Amino acid sequence: ERIEDKLYQNRYLVDAGRPHITVRPHRSPSLNLLALTRVCPAKCYELNETGQVDVTADGCMECGTCRVLCEVNGDVEWSYPRGGFGVLFKFG
Ligand code: SF4
Repeated sequence: ERIEDKLYQNRYLVDAGRPHITVRPHRSPSLNLLALTRVCPAKCYELNETGQVDVTADGCMECGTCRVLCEVNGDVEWSYPRGGFGVLFKFG
């Protein structure tokens, strides 16, 4: 079975108005922040038309990559979604 088929079985419950990841406002992104537009497996990070990095946390798999790369330097604020929200992994 392909990994895409496996991932498709996960469900995601959006906690409307309470994103669990936010990007600190910036004029131009740090290299780490920029890297997230390429390394986030759920493609949550995008470069917008004015050159800043935006995050859309819907679909985040809570892999922690952006947390490791960008929480320490303050580019990103990250917290686990409230109980019952966020990714619901299907095992097996
Ligand atoms: Fe993407 Fe992983 Fe960060 Fe979620 S935790 S936004 S999947 S890099």
